[in-house]
Amino acid sequence: MTLTRILRHSESMLVLFEPSYITRLWTIFEIAGFLKSHGDRAGVSSCLIILSTFLGPTAVAIFLSATVINMSLLLNYGGRMQTILAVTCVVFCVCANGIHWLRGYFRWIDECCSQLKNFSMEKAHSHCCKSNHLNEAGSQIMCDREIITECIRLWFGSEEAFESCVRSEVSSLLIKGLQRQTFTFRWLVAACVPTCWVCGDLLVARLKVGETYFSIVAGVVLLGWWLGLIPVCALACFVLSSKLRRQRPNGCLDHMVTVMAASLVVVLVLSLYLLSIVLVGLVGDDLLGTCLWAPVVSLATVLAWRVWTQLHLRHLQSG
Ligand SMILES: [Zn+2]
Repeated sequence: MTLTRILRHSESMLVLFEPSYITRLWTIFEIAGFLKSHGDRAGVSSCLIILSTFLGPTAVAIFLSATVINMSLLLNYGGRMQTILAVTCVVFCVCANGIHWLRGYFRWIDECCSQLKNFSMEKAHSHCCKSNHLNEAGSQIMCDREIITECIRLWFGSEEAFESCVRSEVSSLLIKGLQRQTFTFRWLVAACVPTCWVCGDLLVARLKVGETYFSIVAGVVLLGWWLGLIPVCALACFVLSSKLRRQRPNGCLDHMVTVMAASLVVVLVLSLYLLSIVLVGLVGDDLLGTCLWAPVVSLATVLAWRVWTQLHLRHLQSG
């Protein structure tokens, strides 16, 4: 059969994982078929590339959030305290929206893991059966379910063997793929790139007027914000959203959970931001103060990344 040949001769398979993926018989059959046809090949799991379609809108959301936070720093509010208050409000709004969205995503992951572990052919959807085997013009179409069922019997021996393969091998590989490929630090740093534009602009402006000392300070601030402060903010949102993902029965209480989580992120980000001001004030030198702040924010990033990856791993394994 053509599909058998395509799957057998494919070196890798790209899975664009989205909400309906595991509910459709065709898509689950394709993955199970790919694994079956490559079962004797070492490292078959690395040939299965799983990317959640959630990554696209999340990357755009982080990109826009980083832009808004950085732009809010450039506006003139009439004083340092007013600037801190304005930026705090912006960070809070951005985080509250992000956490609300992320909590929904983590609940969906839970649902996917549960559906995969309880997969049955009977519950899986087929478009043809849903549309009573009629196309848009009203003509009769073939039943995909019948063809797939026939293939399953040929490849797996029985429908029960196929269901067992989905509940164990396919479920395990999809979860491992989501765990390994969903969020990477490189992806996060790329999404936070607007920070470079704002801090880079200040750096270039200093260089143009010959202020080498302050341009170095701006360079250290750029790295601290781009690779530290903004990723820490995003990672704190990920961690809290995953921990507090359970939907509360009361809508008000559920929003309160989001507000509480966003407030915690704001406190963390504000503390790290204020630390740079305090350190500069303590040592009385912009460059030395900023250079002392950079390792602290780097350490916070490493810790946040470790907490996030461990938590994400546990979440998917327990799902
Ligand atoms: Zn059908």
